[in-house]
Amino acid sequence: MPAPTAALMSLNGRIVPYDQCTVHAFSGVVKYGAAVFEGLRGYWNPERGDMYVFRLREHLERLRYGMRVLRFDTVFDVDFMADSLIAMIRANDLRETVHLRMIAFLDGDDELAATGPVGLVCGAVPRPRSKAVMDGVHVAIGTYARLGDNVLPPRVKCTANYVNNRAAELEAKRNGYNGVLMLTERGKVSEGSGACFFMVRNGVLHTPDTASDILESITRDTVIQLARDAGMAVHERTIDRHEIYAADEAFWCGSGYEVQPIVSLDRLPIGDGTPGPVTRGLRDAYFAAVEGRSEDHPDWRTPVWANA
Ligand code: PMP
Repeated sequence: MPAPTAALMSLNGRIVPYDQCTVHAFSGVVKYGAAVFEGLRGYWNPERGDMYVFRLREHLERLRYGMRVLRFDTVFDVDFMADSLIAMIRANDLRETVHLRMIAFLDGDDELAATGPVGLVCGAVPRPRSKAVMDGVHVAIGTYARLGDNVLPPRVKCTANYVNNRAAELEAKRNGYNGVLMLTERGKVSEGSGACFFMVRNGVLHTPDTASDILESITRDTVIQLARDAGMAVHERTIDRHEIYAADEAFWCGSGYEVQPIVSLDRLPIGDGTPGPVTRGLRDAYFAAVEGRSEDHPDWRTPVWANA
């Protein structure tokens, strides 16, 4: 198996070659989807000659929360996970923008209620900036409801949850859309298959609240802070599907997606059907923040090489 970007990965704190980073087919993660994961980005800043991992601590805190909710008998501490990730980046001598993945998984070959042993893996894969960031995406409301909090924990990036997102995404792709926006079981707007939703109405930003069965997204929080920095009002609330048709602008965001304008929903153009000024402004502010071209919020960026 050829390594995609980084020939070396980290398994339980040890650096291993990509093709030796394996689990048993009878492990709890394979049989039951018992794992939690994070997708982060490391942004290369050519002027500074450094890579910044964006909001590392927040991602690792969310991973810890997920391990607790899955009742794993090992909940790795933030420093151990951060050190493993940084060591993996340095071992690969990565000096480019990368997508970083970390997975805490149920290992062993025991039955359904097993809570250990728990493994931890991380690596880097290519995920270049999508064309969608500039051009925008055409999105459909999916027929699959976003899983509810009484089914599986939407706030946890649990591997099993993504069977739901995948079904919704496949449906939208089959129907010729770029992506899917999911509704809650109560029929209110929730989120995309890998991104949180925002819309702009009369200069105000609106996004589904955290009880709308969303992942408590770190990019969502970043965008809310950047919007407030720019003096915009942000409302977290329940949103109806038909209200989106009345929006001036819409976009979705996530660590992998970054900030992507939504230019149509269900084939109805949003606004004039092109990325709007508020979306473009927030997108630019986002890239300035993640790439370290803005001095604001220094605590969001963990440099990899400065302290090597
Ligand atoms: N919702 C879902 C279902 C996701 O998988 C993701 C990607 N992690 C997001 C939202 C965005 O979350 P974040 O900004 O923390 O990456």
